[in-house]
Amino acid sequence: MTKFVFVTGGVMSGIGKGIAAASTAKLFQFRGFKVSIVKIDPYLNVDPGTLNPIEHGECFVTEIVWNFQPVENGEKFQISEIDQDFGSYERFLNVNIPPSHNITSGQIYLQTILKERKGEYLGHTVQIIPHCTDIIKDRIKRIAQEEKLDVLVIECGGTVGDIESTVFLEAIRQLRLEVGRKDMVLIHVTYIPYSEAVGQLKSKPTQHSVKMLQAAGLQPDFLVCRAPVELETDPSVRAKISLFSNLPPEAVISNPDIQCIYDLPLIFERQNLGDSLCFNLDLKPKTLSCIECISDWRKTVDLFKNTNKEVTIAMPGKYTSITDSYVSINAALRDAGAHLGTKVHIRWVDTEYLDENAVLSADGMLNTPGFGSRAVEGMIRCAELAMEHRIPYLGICFGCQLLYIAYCRKFLGLEGANSTEIDPKTPYAVVDKMDDQKAIKLMGGTMRLGGYPVILKPNTRLSSVYAQGEIIERFRHRYHIMDDFMKKNDDKGMVVSAVDKTGKIVNALELNWPNYFCVGTQFHAEFKSRPTNPSPIYTAFLQAVLDKKFGKPI
Ligand code: GLN
Repeated sequence: MTKFVFVTGGVMSGIGKGIAAASTAKLFQFRGFKVSIVKIDPYLNVDPGTLNPIEHGECFVTEIVWNFQPVENGEKFQISEIDQDFGSYERFLNVNIPPSHNITSGQIYLQTILKERKGEYLGHTVQIIPHCTDIIKDRIKRIAQEEKLDVLVIECGGTVGDIESTVFLEAIRQLRLEVGRKDMVLIHVTYIPYSEAVGQLKSKPTQHSVKMLQAAGLQPDFLVCRAPVELETDPSVRAKISLFSNLPPEAVISNPDIQCIYDLPLIFERQNLGDSLCFNLDLKPKTLSCIECISDWRKTVDLFKNTNKEVTIAMPGKYTSITDSYVSINAALRDAGAHLGTKVHIRWVDTEYLDENAVLSADGMLNTPGFGSRAVEGMIRCAELAMEHRIPYLGICFGCQLLYIAYCRKFLGLEGANSTEIDPKTPYAVVDKMDDQKAIKLMGGTMRLGGYPVILKPNTRLSSVYAQGEIIERFRHRYHIMDDFMKKNDDKGMVVSAVDKTGKIVNALELNWPNYFCVGTQFHAEFKSRPTNPSPIYTAFLQAVLDKKFGKPI
């Protein structure tokens, strides 16, 4: 029998609900339970793959692809692109999470309507309640059963009070009635602003948000209060929140701004949240080594806090107006940094109005993933600058393709070389659509997605970094590198260092110039980086940056 922990959010978005949900799940993992996380997203997109990263942040890519089939014998939809919070879940829990764990309103309504067309509701008026709510409950219960989970944490996206999330709150209310109080708890994550003018933490927005939750028939069991400071800073605030939320003071948990997000499970532990959750759910820890698990995690957190070197990495890109667009890359750089005793400062550089000094003065460059032509010439220029000035370079997906374009233009004399994604009329289509993508017209979930084997070429930097012949990394692309241009013209040092199983898709490139790290990967190694186990290629890149900065030969 699986226990359910629902996490809702109040007051405003962007208060770290995903990190709070991941940290809550971690408390159960410390105690030896098999735990996973589901995220509900109230938007009507079937998955976030077609969303603009500037609006929604990064799109996370899972290892496996899920063929979502809303009705039996009906059309299947490939899903591997899911909400960015899954990156946090995987990094905190060190597990791969299946894409079926991301439930969107789009999926629920699509399924409801297709079922109606198929005649599954003959004779009935199809309604949000019970038809949509039943599908939501069914999805959640099925995951719990099929994966034989001890605990399933379910994060409900959006903010309580949003029209879109009402149907999900109603499903939670019904589920709570079905499974009973001992099998389900509700955590509400809210924000407590600090008023500089009066020097006080202000609880009123939280009071209102709890009232809204109560009006939906849901009484929270715990409040996690995100605030710029510890709640203890203001002695009266916890008592006030407790009184107005109908909760004992010990169920009001402080969630202050912190230097390292991985510290949050430990902050929760200090407030006994793990034990209190187990008490409420009638769970006895499955392991006696809980203290050891916590202390291992603390050692990891200490790596992030106790760095003694600093580097600045320039990240040219087209979605730099919000840093969430690159959240897994940011995390992968910091994971690698922590294990090398290094604090990584990231300088996001908007290439629509490129400031060349911003990249030239950095210690290394990571050229980012992306789609479409806006701001791309600036990204290509950055790749060129990196090669000219021998700035250690890691290109991810688009950043790999653009490295190749810059190389073809500068070193192979192919003026106007480009990707057909950017310039369909280019005289040299050095990056072009993959063959099996050419016939595809629909945009949602149709890229080459998920984990694929990558065959590493011997005697390359990449193969020495991974120290194996074959790895699995995650992909999300439609275009690929046409290495024929290089084969015909090349003696300037660019080599293919990895291909796919068919040998047709270039999976990585590198320059074989001595003492220079310049690598592009068609895959997104950031999706597999974990704070406990950073990505090998990110670590090698950062090591090269350190070697260059602190004078050791590469
Ligand atoms: N736009 C490129 C492609 O589709 C790169 C994609 C990416 O960076 N994820 O191939």
